[in-house]
Amino acid sequence: MGAYDDDNIFARILRGEIPCSKVYEDDDTLAFLDIMPRSKGHVLVIPKVKAVDLTDIDPAALAKLMTVVQKLSPKIVKALGADGFMIQQFNGAGAGQTVFHLHIHIIPRWEGESLKPHGTTMADKDELAETAEVLSSALAD
Ligand code: AMP
Repeated sequence: MGAYDDDNIFARILRGEIPCSKVYEDDDTLAFLDIMPRSKGHVLVIPKVKAVDLTDIDPAALAKLMTVVQKLSPKIVKALGADGFMIQQFNGAGAGQTVFHLHIHIIPRWEGESLKPHGTTMADKDELAETAEVLSSALAD
């Protein structure tokens, strides 16, 4: 594991320097749509503390992050009429990690629908905006 890079893309999103399709935020956590979704409603949940990967976060902060993942996932499934969800999380470039700020992928799944490959196809802008609107209101309470 390398040192935390303050200019990684998710750090810049947290500082508001670049936009994201935000669907949820609290004091410790931000959730937004993945720009290269593996399925409709693919959400990334990130801690606001600086952490490169799963090994680099205080257990109490990790517990808060996973509590949010647990809370949001079924609401995402319900709002989109999905059949279930998958959690994905990569540690290290060799394992497929490309952004070095810890993030948990919540990937809604529909029976019989295969996943798009990881991080390859850009989402349609209008579809992303529409999904962000649906999820923001579903995740608000
Ligand atoms: P990984 O580090 O392998 O878990 O993948 C990083 C994920 O972040 C990929 O699924 C990318 O599509 C996604 N991603 C990269 N840049 C952005 C961005 N600016 N906004 C939203 N998602 C992003």
